[in-house]
Amino acid sequence: MTGKFIVSLDFELMWGVRYHMGRDDYGDAVLGGRQAIPEILKLFSQYGVHATWATVGLLFARTRKEMLDYIPDDLPKYTNASLSNYEAIQGDIGENEKEDPYHFGRSLLDLVAETPGQEVATHTFSHFYCLEDGQTLSAFKADIQSAKAIAKSAGHELKSIVFPRNQYHDDHVEICVAEGITTFRGQPDVFAYRTMANRDVTPLVRGVRLLDSIMPVVPRTDPRRPKQCAGATDVKASRFLRPWRSSLPAYSTLHLNRIRSEMRTAAQQGRQFHLWWHPHNFGRNARENLMQLEKVLEEYARLRLSHGMESVTMSDAARETQLVRGANC
Ligand SMILES: [Zn+2]
Repeated sequence: MTGKFIVSLDFELMWGVRYHMGRDDYGDAVLGGRQAIPEILKLFSQYGVHATWATVGLLFARTRKEMLDYIPDDLPKYTNASLSNYEAIQGDIGENEKEDPYHFGRSLLDLVAETPGQEVATHTFSHFYCLEDGQTLSAFKADIQSAKAIAKSAGHELKSIVFPRNQYHDDHVEICVAEGITTFRGQPDVFAYRTMANRDVTPLVRGVRLLDSIMPVVPRTDPRRPKQCAGATDVKASRFLRPWRSSLPAYSTLHLNRIRSEMRTAAQQGRQFHLWWHPHNFGRNARENLMQLEKVLEEYARLRLSHGMESVTMSDAARETQLVRGANC
């Protein structure tokens, strides 16, 4: 099998960060991320990259009324109430995208959907936190059903999911499968990367991830193909594309080199390499971040020529795996 280059983006605007940051301290990055999306799509078209856009369900809405129409009855009761985005819809946001570009993004979603090769997937309806205290499986199921319903109203059938903050258990995956969402981005089952609640993301975990992004610290091998089990296909994450840092340009260069090296290994050994980030990570230092992305895509173009590496969406990767072999739990 040839190597696969898989890209996924967690498209969330303010919904993914508002539990710990507001418009005053992060709004500029969210707006900058909006401007970066058309540029990212242009690069994807130029290099023939097929990406998966895991989109918060609220971003399918054109109006606040539409958001309210899809709020489920069974809401999560997080111990940390600030995690719930449902409160905000009731009062703290504008009426539409023109009034409130921090919380509405339908025009961008439509642009993604119109670009050849892009998959519209889900990042849950409300940016649901599966491993935080107070969440329940029934509330998760209701949230996913709302995500499906609002996506359907916009003409999209959801097949793949990226769990917010990469938090999930087998139970959450099973609920997704029952709802027809059969592909997910899993986490490598190794220290510092395995799925965990916010309280477990300690300074040590952050430090190890930071270091591992520029040099091999955590032993890990990318799989040859997605893992299939009980109807679900796990298209495991390989690497988070870190934002370019003006304070540490040398770090960013090492990070880019590490990604390109991992891509080469995947191409040479017929493995998958799954890169992910958020559009708002490009919201500051956009020019440098887009240049960094283009260098990654240039590497992909070289590996496509030399080793036949292919760019596929998460659902494409899952479909190809199903054709090749059965379950491999
Ligand atoms: Zn998110």
